[in-house]
Amino acid sequence: MTLDPEIKSQLEQYLQLLEGNIVLKVSAGNDDASEEMLSLVDEIASMSSMITLEKTQLPRTPSFSVNRVGEDTGVTFAGTPLGHEFTSLVLALLQVSGRAPKVDQSVIDQIKNIRGEYTFETYISLSCHNCPDVVQALNLMSILNPGITHTMIDGAVFKAEVESKDVMSVPSVYLNGEFFESGRMTVEEILAKMGNAPDASEFDNKEPFDVLVVGGGPAGASAAIYAARKGIRTGIVAERFGGQVNDTIGIENFISVKYTEGPQLVASIEEQVKEYGIDVMKLQRAKRLEKKDLIEVELENGAVLKSKTVILSTGARWRNMGVPGEAEFKNKGVAYCPHCDGPLFIGKDVAVVGGGNSGIEAAIDLAGIVRHVTVLEFAPELKADAVLQDRLHSLPNVTVLKNVQTKEVTGTDKVNGISYEERDTGVTKHIELQGVFVQIGLVPNTDWLGDMVERTRIGEIVVNSHGATSLPGVFAAGDCTNSPYKQIIISMGSGATAALGAFDYLIRN
Ligand SMILES: Cc1cc2nc3c(=O)[nH]c(=O)nc-3n(C[C@H](O)[C@H](O)[C@H](O)COP(=O)(O)OP(=O)(O)OC[C@H]3O[C@@H](n4cnc5c(N)ncnc54)[C@H](O)[C@@H]3O)c2cc1C
Repeated sequence: MTLDPEIKSQLEQYLQLLEGNIVLKVSAGNDDASEEMLSLVDEIASMSSMITLEKTQLPRTPSFSVNRVGEDTGVTFAGTPLGHEFTSLVLALLQVSGRAPKVDQSVIDQIKNIRGEYTFETYISLSCHNCPDVVQALNLMSILNPGITHTMIDGAVFKAEVESKDVMSVPSVYLNGEFFESGRMTVEEILAKMGNAPDASEFDNKEPFDVLVVGGGPAGASAAIYAARKGIRTGIVAERFGGQVNDTIGIENFISVKYTEGPQLVASIEEQVKEYGIDVMKLQRAKRLEKKDLIEVELENGAVLKSKTVILSTGARWRNMGVPGEAEFKNKGVAYCPHCDGPLFIGKDVAVVGGGNSGIEAAIDLAGIVRHVTVLEFAPELKADAVLQDRLHSLPNVTVLKNVQTKEVTGTDKVNGISYEERDTGVTKHIELQGVFVQIGLVPNTDWLGDMVERTRIGEIVVNSHGATSLPGVFAAGDCTNSPYKQIIISMGSGATAALGAFDYLIRN
């Protein structure tokens, strides 16, 4: 294997940024996977005099670790980190060489202060766009703290391990041999899960805000930037900064940018938010809103934030089917991200529940990887665009079941089938399969508001043309509102409207 010329030229440029010497300790055999890994590390070493190779025996073959001279960092790649993991490899090389990571100093301090021995292992697939964030976060922790090690494991190379651990979704992280978490996580989320989350005392003494934004997706970020640009005290409290954009691969409709990817867009949004001195409170979930003299927002950790105005931008989440087996077999065959988890079902039979655009896109995508896809649609007709339906019907390994209601996901320790009812006959049928991809739309994250603001039948917050809700001083924007179309650019626009609406309210009151 030789590197693609474009990747090679990128790598050459990155390697010029190395700040110290690096030793790659390589454990290889005579198998094809070892050959592939060896040709990558040989090529890297040939491109920089600061990188040397050393043969060794690591717990997994093929694998290699990235180290400083005379000091092991604990960062190991088992398999060949190309595809989406290529960036993880580049970052590991740069950071091990001494280049400063782009994370807040407070996060670096938290990592350095962790005491104890932590052996992390992450199962990934090279086509998973959620995996690199986790790999890079854990690599960073491993580089900064001598008690922490991390190995990225390509599930396609270490199939027996994946089977024996029943890994059915990536990234799947294990800590000291025990399952830790699956799915995309930021370094702050990993630290919080390890017991390093900030407690209520860090928030209790905050001065009241002029504008407090609840939710840190495109709507919330845009609202906060517009508010802060008015020179008023602005805060954002967000469970997961970036919101749904974190889960988006290619974005081609963000006007003025021909193509970008979710994590890239989130990073530039965050950079811009930081420019304005906005108080960003990440990993915090609001659970109650009440209007007294000021508007109060209570967080899950018990802290109460106060503000003259509030902008609600809590977005939406995947809709669950709510049938027996769905929650039980989540990550054990029930999946929501075809791009991430599809490769774990190579040669297997799967179902896609939902015949809208996202369901049919998922079915087309999966049909190229798995043995057979069954699409289950509740309505008598598919709702996806005609062009997608035409493509779907051209595929030989797809069956479409219309007018059916999913009743149960069956299994023992993992999914072994799905039961559905034919709505016209009332007959229940069962299909044996190994994976169920749920693609039935989104629900607004507004349950926590109760009756404080007017919501529609499906829970969307009702707003007027200024972004104002039924409660004076409280505004809303983005996917959590009754705006008819849910898109990044629309959320950003409505965030701006809500911020200007809130500013207008402030100067009049
Ligand atoms: C897979 C996928 C692909 C997509 N592709 C595109 C695309 O190509 N182009 C496009 O324009 N749009 C796309 N979208 C839609 C787009 O991502 C959304 O319309 C947009 O992200 C909505 O922004 P938002 O800020 O309103 O909400 P979200 O992005 O949902 O953000 C909500 C924020 O609120 C936080 N939050 C929720 N509840 C609470 C709480 N109680 N307390 C504190 N914080 C809370 C969340 O953690 C998050 O920070 C896609 C969506 C998905 C899921």
